[in-house]
Amino acid sequence: MSKPAIALSNVTKSFGSTQVLKDISLQVTPGEVLVLIGASGSGKSTVLRIMSGLETADGGEIWVNDVPLHDTRRSREICGHVGMVFQQFNLFPHKTALGNVTLALIKAQNLSSAEANKRGMAALERVGLAERAQHYPSQLSGGQQQRVAIARALAVEPKIMFFDEATSALDPELVGEVTEVMRGLARDGMTMVVVTHEMGFARKTADRVVFMDKGVIAEQGVPEQIFVNPQNPRTQQFLSRVL
Ligand code: ADP
Ligand code: MG
Repeated sequence: MSKPAIALSNVTKSFGSTQVLKDISLQVTPGEVLVLIGASGSGKSTVLRIMSGLETADGGEIWVNDVPLHDTRRSREICGHVGMVFQQFNLFPHKTALGNVTLALIKAQNLSSAEANKRGMAALERVGLAERAQHYPSQLSGGQQQRVAIARALAVEPKIMFFDEATSALDPELVGEVTEVMRGLARDGMTMVVVTHEMGFARKTADRVVFMDKGVIAEQGVPEQIFVNPQNPRTQQFLSRVL
């Protein structure tokens, strides 16, 4: 059994008087694709934000690649080891696809522009957009823009990728090209934690599905178990609404 890439134990989080994460314990093994599902407001994004160091927990321990994120003095060490993709692509409109992908490499990682361009092109290649490197976001479809955002995250060569509803803002016909890129990363062995409403993706690509309900992990298992034979009535109810 290899060491977990991510380990949460007894993580709690409140916003004001509302406890949004109650007692989350969860491990992700290297190379695993973990998919988080659950109703809006159940705490999925908060879990992802805590795992990626964007949000601090109130209690519990969070280890990501051996960095104790619960230790605020060390939480910055995770920068550059994780990549995050959101619903909104947030590309700079006045920068080309390649310019967007290389920005952090030049500004934060202090790479030379030649080195940044080399890495940036490799990342664009990985999402199938090398030939669009000089296009501006307005010249790209929503699906292509999101693939650029994935390339931007990949360019820092992260060990873990987080996706928070990466396809939710896309027209239905553009979802497939993005989930296909995500599937490719999974096949290449990337450790991934994915929040999604795409149950087809969860079924086909997840190694494990976690169903969250009101700040707790209500049920988890391999896709066949969760989708074909859910044990928890809350899981059954949720799936009957989304499938
Ligand atoms: P999900 O991603 O499953 O929809 P979230 O993790 O975004 O759920 O939110 C869980 C709960 O926490 C929701 O009730 C939400 O309104 C609340 N919440 C999330 N972020 C904040 C915040 N920054 N300030 C206040 N409440 C928040
Ligand atoms: Mg969310």
